[in-house]
Amino acid sequence: MTPRVLVVGGGFAGWQVVKHLQGKGFEVVLLDRQPHHVFIPLLYQVAIGLMPPQVVARPLAKLCAPHTTFVQDPVTAIDLAHQQVHTTTQRLAYDFLVLAAGSVVRSPPAGTFGLQTLEQALALRDRLEQTPHGGTWVVVGGGATGVEMAGALAEWSRWHAQSLRILLVQSRDRLLPDLPAPLATATIRHLQRLGVELRLGTTVQVADPHTAILNGDRLPCTGIIWTAGLVGTPLAYTPAVETVFKQRLAVRPTLQLSDWDNVYAIGDLAAAKVRDRSAYLTGVAPEALQQGVHVARNLQRHRRGLVPQPFTYWDKGRLAVIGGYGAIGKIGPVSLTGFGPWLLWFAVHGWYLPGFANRAKALGQWLWVYLLRRKP
Ligand SMILES: Cc1cc2nc3c(=O)[nH]c(=O)nc-3n(C[C@H](O)[C@H](O)[C@H](O)COP(=O)(O)OP(=O)(O)OC[C@H]3O[C@@H](n4cnc5c(N)ncnc54)[C@H](O)[C@@H]3O)c2cc1C
Repeated sequence: MTPRVLVVGGGFAGWQVVKHLQGKGFEVVLLDRQPHHVFIPLLYQVAIGLMPPQVVARPLAKLCAPHTTFVQDPVTAIDLAHQQVHTTTQRLAYDFLVLAAGSVVRSPPAGTFGLQTLEQALALRDRLEQTPHGGTWVVVGGGATGVEMAGALAEWSRWHAQSLRILLVQSRDRLLPDLPAPLATATIRHLQRLGVELRLGTTVQVADPHTAILNGDRLPCTGIIWTAGLVGTPLAYTPAVETVFKQRLAVRPTLQLSDWDNVYAIGDLAAAKVRDRSAYLTGVAPEALQQGVHVARNLQRHRRGLVPQPFTYWDKGRLAVIGGYGAIGKIGPVSLTGFGPWLLWFAVHGWYLPGFANRAKALGQWLWVYLLRRKP
């Protein structure tokens, strides 16, 4: 009998599993709550009106046909004991389950803008277009996403000749905790040159969508963008499964769940560790991509009666754009800042953007805006 693999989540990790199982003797079903595979790293460019939404979102039904069945329906519960996944409309049985539902912001305050789905990016774009002159934007979270967004707002402000006040707020006393301290210092200098105000060691409460409270002081603002506090997407498991670092699922080195040989967790949802087993992976797209490929291989090993292999991550480095032709990066032991990593960021993201037509459109937009210096 053909084994049935159910993949929950058609993002970076889940899509790799589907792609690498095509024609390999499995019945594959992909479940996602949204109709698109979304290239999340470019969402901030959709939010500032630089990138059209169709460039970053590809229809999963079209990508899956004819080999894979695509079901658009949110997962509501997972019954591990009976090998079934419940959605709002049906129950789907599986022989193997791959959980790749990504991460979510833990309890984002009502009325704040997020940056994880296409709808959120478009809502932010609409709000920015209605921004009155001299509006104030508060970006919460000093990780790569917050830094990128703050820099992008500065660019938006320049393109539209508007004097936005942009505050980047971080509860810890440094930016970019996953990267070396000198890169964080370079980022601060660069953002300050772009006019971004930094508030480190500052906690934020949200009184209403137009009032942020920073360390107790009320700040009227146009909008609040919340990027802090990513955790593994909660899915109701029966019986309960162990979660560890950032509410991600505990996995074995093979990426199988601790107590379930036929269930894998990958990408942002999984608490996978780096090669030396001491630290958790941080949750970036290359980790998700490599884990997806690895699990597809392990599933083929199951079919052949072989034991699954442990996952090892090949770290090709990290890059983050910080606005105004500037970026930071770490490749192996080498830290990079300035225009070089900025160019590399665009080359890498253009390369990994799925679909030739999308790459061509993205390249056209970037050349128009950054080479010819035209308004998007
Ligand atoms: C704004 C932003 C910018 C980023 N920039 C970069 C970058 O420049 N470089 C980089 O390497 N990484 C970046 N990342 C991180 C990167 O996007 C993630 O590490 C990557 O998307 C993880 O892949 P994934 O497949 O685990 O999850 P995702 O790509 O998030 O996919 C999860 C999928 O699961 C689906 N899903 C969720 N819940 C359910 C449910 N209940 N039922 C059904 N389906 C569900 C979602 O709809 C989604 O399609 C960024 C992240 C953000 C938020």
